[in-house]
Amino acid sequence: MNDMTTYQIADIFQCTCCGFCCHGETTVSLDRHDQERMIKALGLTPEATRQQYWRVTGSVVQMQTRDGHCIFYDTNIGCTVHEGRPWRCRQWPLHPSMLADENNYRTITESCPGFKKGHSYEEFCRILRALLERGDGDKTGG
Ligand code: SF4
Ligand code: SF4
Repeated sequence: MNDMTTYQIADIFQCTCCGFCCHGETTVSLDRHDQERMIKALGLTPEATRQQYWRVTGSVVQMQTRDGHCIFYDTNIGCTVHEGRPWRCRQWPLHPSMLADENNYRTITESCPGFKKGHSYEEFCRILRALLERGDGDKTGG
C-alpha cells in the first residue's frame, strides 16, 4: 500500500482532454478572484474582458459560450485560458463532494472518462482525501 504522501493525481485521474466538461450552454460562474485572474491572464482591461468573454446576469458572471461550449474551449488544444481559468475548472473533476456521498462519486466518474478504473470507492476516497489535504487537487486537465 502507498504511503499517504506518495499518492499522485495520476493514481486516480488523467485528463483525456475529451472536452465534455467545457461543453454546454452555460459555464461555471466566476468569483472576484477568478475575474481578476482571468483579466490578468488575458492582458485586457476589465471592460474589454467583460465585453468579449463574459456573460453577466445581475451579480452572476459566467463565460460566454460559442457553438455549445465555453468561449475559451478549442477543439484542438482544449482550454485557451488555462492559467486564468476559474477555480471551479481547476478543481474539476476532483470534487470534495465525492468524499461525502458515493452517489456524487458515481455521477462525476460516469461523466468524466479521465478517472482510473479499478479502485474501490473506499480506495478512491483515501487517495483523494490525501491529495486534497496536501493541497494537490488542482489537476492539469479540463
Ligand atoms: S476533466 Fe474529464 S470531462 Fe473534462 S476534459 Fe478531462 S477527461 Fe474530459
Ligand atoms: S477549463 Fe477553460 S475552456 Fe473549459 S470551461 Fe473552464 S475556462 Fe472554459
